[in-house]
Amino acid sequence: MKTLDEYLTLAEKAHGHLCAGQVLGVRLAMLGLRKLGIADAERERKRLVTYVEIDRCVTDAVALVAHCRLGKRSLKFFDWGKVAATFVDLQTGRAIRVSAKESSKQRAKQMFPEMEKEHGQQKAYAVLPDAELFDTAWVHVEVPPEDLPGFRGPRVVCAECGEGINFQREVIANGRTLCRACAGPRYYHPLP
Ligand SMILES: [Zn+2]
Ligand SMILES: [Zn+2]
Repeated sequence: MKTLDEYLTLAEKAHGHLCAGQVLGVRLAMLGLRKLGIADAERERKRLVTYVEIDRCVTDAVALVAHCRLGKRSLKFFDWGKVAATFVDLQTGRAIRVSAKESSKQRAKQMFPEMEKEHGQQKAYAVLPDAELFDTAWVHVEVPPEDLPGFRGPRVVCAECGEGINFQREVIANGRTLCRACAGPRYYHPLP
């Protein structure tokens, strides 16, 4: 595993700036990988699927250290607004969820009370022990075959909109094969 500083250099470059979220995210992912006994996620790229629960700075750092990407299907996003991630070891079936303690911000403030908040957090998150920053829990994650990176399956076409659907995301409604948008609530609405 790379050192915290090495990861932070990479994270700063990938994310565009160094921030408290990068430090927390690198620490969070390093802890998760260490628990799973994965020394180098890049070298063992087929071994890990990571579930993230927020779309913020911290997520970029987690994805970097875990070497998981949305485009590789090894990064899964649940929009729960929580600073937490679950690392699933596909080789062993073990999974560890690491979440930031609600008290971590307060701890950072106590540590560097004279510092401006963002800078103080960056420094504190780099040095506070894991146990003061995170909670960890062994969990079970069922990763269905169609969610795995490299899954190959039939591609079907939505009977309503005619768009192709991959990864068995189709829905059968009243005997028709539909995409999720046509079958239920959609996040976009066609303009008249
Ligand atoms: Zn940031
Ligand atoms: Zn459709």
